[in-house]
Amino acid sequence: MGLYTSLISGLFFPLHERFKKHSSVVVREQMEVSQWWEDKRLKALQLSRLCQLLTHVETHVPYYRELFTKIGFKARDVHSLSDLAHLPLLDKTIIRHNVGALKSENARHLARFNTGGSSGDPLIFYIGKERVSHDVAAKWRATRWWGVDIGDPEIVVWGSPIELGAQDGVRALRDRLLRTRLLPAFEMSAQKLDQFLDEIRSVRPRMLFGYPSALSHIARHAAAKGQRMDDLGIRVAFVTSERLYDEQRQQIGNIFGCPVANGYGGRDAGFIAHECPQGGMHITAEDIIVEIVDQQGAPLPYGEAGEIVVTHLATRDFPFIRYRTGDIGVLDSKPCTCGRGLPLLREIQGRSTDFLVAQNGTVMHGLALIYILRDLPQILAFKIIQESLDSTRVLTVSEEELSPELVEKIKVGFKARLGQGVRIAVEEVTEIPAEKSGKFRYVVSMVAPG
Ligand SMILES: [Zn+2]
Repeated sequence: MGLYTSLISGLFFPLHERFKKHSSVVVREQMEVSQWWEDKRLKALQLSRLCQLLTHVETHVPYYRELFTKIGFKARDVHSLSDLAHLPLLDKTIIRHNVGALKSENARHLARFNTGGSSGDPLIFYIGKERVSHDVAAKWRATRWWGVDIGDPEIVVWGSPIELGAQDGVRALRDRLLRTRLLPAFEMSAQKLDQFLDEIRSVRPRMLFGYPSALSHIARHAAAKGQRMDDLGIRVAFVTSERLYDEQRQQIGNIFGCPVANGYGGRDAGFIAHECPQGGMHITAEDIIVEIVDQQGAPLPYGEAGEIVVTHLATRDFPFIRYRTGDIGVLDSKPCTCGRGLPLLREIQGRSTDFLVAQNGTVMHGLALIYILRDLPQILAFKIIQESLDSTRVLTVSEEELSPELVEKIKVGFKARLGQGVRIAVEEVTEIPAEKSGKFRYVVSMVAPG
């Protein structure tokens, strides 16, 4: 580890976290011990934390107080992890209708978030400081599996307006100290891609972080230009938020000369699992209980495919208990050759985002349009169909008819991204028909570039 990195990870970042009242430094240190524990000990930790969480929500979270009374559930009757199955599943519709009652009465400093990237249903929810600390710690631990620490130079290819909008002075200074450089994933014209390659060359990052589609798009551009990128000392490319296809893994790995590490999770569900250098997708078991359930919500045994349902144990301020991700996965009972006791998740299916092409040829990430819709609480589900460069249809489901102002706002947002001459049709429907996979509620169908 270089002197600068050890200063940042050993001094500056811990101070930063203490100032923000985050406990991520301590949590990460504990996690680096517990990752080697055997299964039995990890399960005992999960059970004790689950009991604490359920006891808390029974007393302080109005939604759960009422639910427990209604179904006759008592936190003190929980004696094994399988007792969790007595509680109903939590989904986006329930959160949407109970967003106030899901806040703990003694929660302080909640941050508002929204999501909707992968499953297509927009969702607004809240995150407390405990949750932030645990999610930061889990990511930090996983980067250290790959020899990358906080303070090592990093290129982040991301598109969230939350991240991009928050480039105020303090944030910019923090990013400079942590040596994080953000490249906007939403706009990828050939000229922008040239700039990205130059920036990556000048930063010489230890780590690339971003959507697999965006990183492989940059890799393809480098390959097409015959530009070498495998001589920069990049240790790992961390990808997340979308399904990682084998050809993307190969392309990113070949061009940047580094292994690709897949991560699974989201702002809503948390940092669920991450790949280690031996190829195992390790669940963040200290914080997250993963259940695989059938269509009726009943837990399935190891080895069987079903919907991934998570209970995040650091969410007492705004609980995520048996939360449906909408993704399909399999729990693996085999241990990983790396020796870590953290259990493994296999075959995550169900997340896909494509690129869109604006009228002027700019290739952009599908989330650029999804973000416009997902922050509108009126919209319950949507589907975007780019029929041609000149015409895009937006199907929406809402409880009440959308006002003409809101429809106009959507059209203005889409035109700003796709081009002023593009025809945008907003069609209100009662249901979004499922795709063949039964999972995708939106389609960002690709129009072949140029
Ligand atoms: Zn492993």
